[in-house]
Amino acid sequence: MSMDLHELIINPGRSLPFSCEISEERLAQPSIVSFSEPVTGSGEIRNEAGLLVLTGHIRTRLLCICDRCAAEFEKSVDIPLELTLATELEDEENPDFYLLCDEKLELEEVLSDCFILGLESSFLCREDCKGLCGRCGADLNLGPCSCKKEKDPRLAVLEQLLDDKD
Ligand SMILES: [Zn+2]
Ligand SMILES: [Zn+2]
Repeated sequence: MSMDLHELIINPGRSLPFSCEISEERLAQPSIVSFSEPVTGSGEIRNEAGLLVLTGHIRTRLLCICDRCAAEFEKSVDIPLELTLATELEDEENPDFYLLCDEKLELEEVLSDCFILGLESSFLCREDCKGLCGRCGADLNLGPCSCKKEKDPRLAVLEQLLDDKD
């Protein structure tokens, strides 16, 4: 979806609403199993005294895999959008500006970039997910595994020393 922003660019003060469904193929990630709802970006682009400012949200629901315990879980995603669009870049290194080509905005492309950048880098089923035991693979959210009963070898040495004193 390509938006022609010419009218907006020549009319300071004007705004242009947008709503766009992002195709799921663009958003594939190893931690995402499936999208339970369409990924929709909506909001508006305003011409603020010659600066084009895009604001809005990307919303969806995901079925994803926990990075720590590998359980599947659903999560709502609401990524706020705030982006300044520029017809030319004065500072090529400035990541806060998105460069337009011929006064046109490739909306779906911009939104899919924002989605990928805006997703938290880690997918956790809950913030305090205990993950899997590195030794036996048990899900530690369900309780301690049998490995926990083994003593710390340093403690064992100490206990041995104390025993010898008796
Ligand atoms: Zn987890
Ligand atoms: Zn274990």
